[in-house]
Amino acid sequence: MIILVINSGSSSLKYQVRDSATGERLANGLIERIGDSAHGGPRDHAEALDRVTQELESTLQGRSIDAVGHRVVHGGERFSEPVLVTNEIIRAIERLNPLAPLHNPANVQGIRAIADRWPSMKQVAVFDTAFHRTLPEHAWRYAVPDDLYKKFGIRRYGFHGTSFEYVTRHAAGLLGLPAQEFTGIIAHLGNGASITAVQGGRSIDTSMGFTPLEGLVMGTRSGDIDPSILLFLSREGYTEKDLDRLLNRESGLVGLTGHNDMRSVEESGDAGTVALDIASYRLAKYIGGYHVAVGGAQALVFTAGIGENSWRFRERVVNRLSALGIFIDDAENQKPGGSPREISTEESAFPVLVVPTDEEAAIAEATAAVVDSA
Ligand code: ADP
Repeated sequence: MIILVINSGSSSLKYQVRDSATGERLANGLIERIGDSAHGGPRDHAEALDRVTQELESTLQGRSIDAVGHRVVHGGERFSEPVLVTNEIIRAIERLNPLAPLHNPANVQGIRAIADRWPSMKQVAVFDTAFHRTLPEHAWRYAVPDDLYKKFGIRRYGFHGTSFEYVTRHAAGLLGLPAQEFTGIIAHLGNGASITAVQGGRSIDTSMGFTPLEGLVMGTRSGDIDPSILLFLSREGYTEKDLDRLLNRESGLVGLTGHNDMRSVEESGDAGTVALDIASYRLAKYIGGYHVAVGGAQALVFTAGIGENSWRFRERVVNRLSALGIFIDDAENQKPGGSPREISTEESAFPVLVVPTDEEAAIAEATAAVVDSA
């Protein structure tokens, strides 16, 4: 099936066209500045879609789109799997808007734009939170008054689920196991970063929480901090907007070094070293914790931009894990490579793997599967 994969943001729309059977990428693109027609951007998501259709006409050469798969950030407590989009599903995604005020409304605009243009097109929503619907209550509950959960849905949801599900399958494949027998720890380290404890193929804990801010040190996000820092700063006159910007855009690697890109951080001298120490130490602590959570990991997996490409960062992290008895082979670690591979030594207590993620391929596969079974 030819699947159009859409990742619709408030002011941008990323798309790819994939052949779900072969994984082949037939087209990809990015429409920016939605809503900013003064600077040449499309007026809205419908007009952005006009541009996508124009771009696709030449690349697809007469082949047509069979179905559209959407990345939807928040599936709340309802969605544990990809679903065929109906009006009721759209309303359900909209009801989750308060939990993801920047993302879900934009995702719905993408879905509506397609429905308006191609009313009979099959659309599938693939949720970033879905893979984490298997978290046990002791992992998803925060120790706050019950009312906050009942009234506002304040709990851990977890994100990057499409990636974790995909990497679970491919890591298991590399180890010669079915996905449901994979027990290990997966670190998705991109601009946003999170880590998941997988037991028997299911997510049992993950570092992002109510929002994608909790957990690891990221490109521009702080990850874990003492929540009282927010109270302190608000008493000092910081507004809600200030705090949002501070923790989501001005913290993490960029806050520590002035750079959010790992390649620049690695080249930025002493400040870079401190930042990498903080980030690798935080990650190593999570790995130790999740080793306990899964009852003994059978693999540690690195994925996404940093996890796949920065051998220096992988080395820093694994060097902190000698208590777990795991070791990497320097030559294997430093080899570039785009396919799943093992980088640990023979002596390592369990394998350390690098497994490239591919969220668009996963969305295309999931979309085709849902459409097939509908
Ligand atoms: P996103 O979360 O935006 O999808 P990616 O998964 O593409 O992000 O990861 C982006 C991160 O990967 C950036 O910090 C970038 O510096 C890092 N990265 C990409 N290639 C390399 C490389 N060769 N060496 C070190 N870091 C890399």
